[in-house]
Amino acid sequence: MCAAAPSVTVISGCAIATVDAQASEYPTGHLVVEGGRIVEVGAGPAHPSWRERADRWVDGTGLLATPGFVNTHHHLYQWITRGYAQDETLFGWLTSLYPVWAGIDEETVEAAAAANLGWMALSGTTLTTDHHYVFPQAGGDVLGATIEGARTIGLRFHPTRGSMDLGTSSGGLPPESVVQKTDVALAATEAAIARWHDPSPDSMLQIAVAPCSPFSVTKDLMTGAAEIARAHGARMHTHLCETLDEEAFCLEKYGRKPGEYVEDLGWLGPDVWFAHVVWPTTEDIARFAATGTAVAHCPTSNARLGSGIAPVADMLAAGVPVGLGVDGSASNESGRMDEELHQALLVARLRGGSTSMSARQVLAMATMGGARVLGRQQDLGSLEDGKLADIALWRVDGVSGVDITDPVCALVFGTRSPLELLLVGGVPIVEHEQLVRADIGDLAARSGAASAMLAKRAGR
Ligand SMILES: [Zn+2]
Repeated sequence: MCAAAPSVTVISGCAIATVDAQASEYPTGHLVVEGGRIVEVGAGPAHPSWRERADRWVDGTGLLATPGFVNTHHHLYQWITRGYAQDETLFGWLTSLYPVWAGIDEETVEAAAAANLGWMALSGTTLTTDHHYVFPQAGGDVLGATIEGARTIGLRFHPTRGSMDLGTSSGGLPPESVVQKTDVALAATEAAIARWHDPSPDSMLQIAVAPCSPFSVTKDLMTGAAEIARAHGARMHTHLCETLDEEAFCLEKYGRKPGEYVEDLGWLGPDVWFAHVVWPTTEDIARFAATGTAVAHCPTSNARLGSGIAPVADMLAAGVPVGLGVDGSASNESGRMDEELHQALLVARLRGGSTSMSARQVLAMATMGGARVLGRQQDLGSLEDGKLADIALWRVDGVSGVDITDPVCALVFGTRSPLELLLVGGVPIVEHEQLVRADIGDLAARSGAASAMLAKRAGR
């Protein structure tokens, strides 16, 4: 997917937050990238002998290197339906938006995904997932359209083949216009894995399996999806414990709380991650920790919908793997990962006090935590010898950070830090706050037209 990486890139003189197991940091350090992987990271400037071998030498003065951010929950298509249902809770927001989403197709989704992924790259993201679960009959290959968007921008991509089969006529929340038959959804899920899933260590594209939520999916789809995922070594994802309305739905329809419901269906394990988990019980946290079941924490979306504040400090303390997620752009209204770090820090402290979450814990969730959630911790998530060169280089000596002695504090506590360079597998994707492979103006024009077309189709 990527153009060939320059054979040797040296970044010398930057601060480095490695996010390795020892949380090693260097006030002045260097990184050497060769063939798409990190071959050297350490204190002080790079050895002068690299000068002869370097195809590119980056002066890191005033910059902070971190691992590229990993976004663990998203709905890219929602980029073109921002601004709707501004004062609704989750269920009201969904029922307002389902009819609009019923109008999506390949063309609108590709425009939405490319613009959204461009925005994500500009905020330091090198790997993102996407949870796509709306497949209108006349919509064409909308999952393929998101993959095309990722190729346009150059990000590492873990899309999921989502699904919904529990419409209003069967007691579910979504209208029939946006649900599929169970067997159709399962067959398409298996086909998506066969077509796209690349499990190799350097993989740019992996497919996960993702029935949407307890109130939009039947038990048969949940268990069938798990069988397919586990037969093919793909990961499993769904929304869980997002709101108290969801809990009430599960108690009424299944006689179980959400965490008990998914345990009954075999949906726990190190290959499973849940989005949100705002309302877990104490037993849920213990069962997630014991089974290695992971969580995508989405503080902005939870705040926008008034869903609540997830007990992230408690989950981390219990040993639950937690990553950060922006969630879909229609409940985030932006989708910048750097902003999500900021929000994660603040909401955790609103819930648990000033010592309940540190800047380093947030940075770890956004990088190594996310890599673990998506099963890429062997190759991604930290700046270490041998890992893939997915690196963000932030300017922290500008007006936003010049008086802050701790560059990690400047990045997480402070306002946006300019992104000087973003590498995915050693390949530049962002240079000096500009996308390398796409023009942000063109992306915005196409997504704006798609948004207008969708509103017109929905009679809005
Ligand atoms: Zn979501």
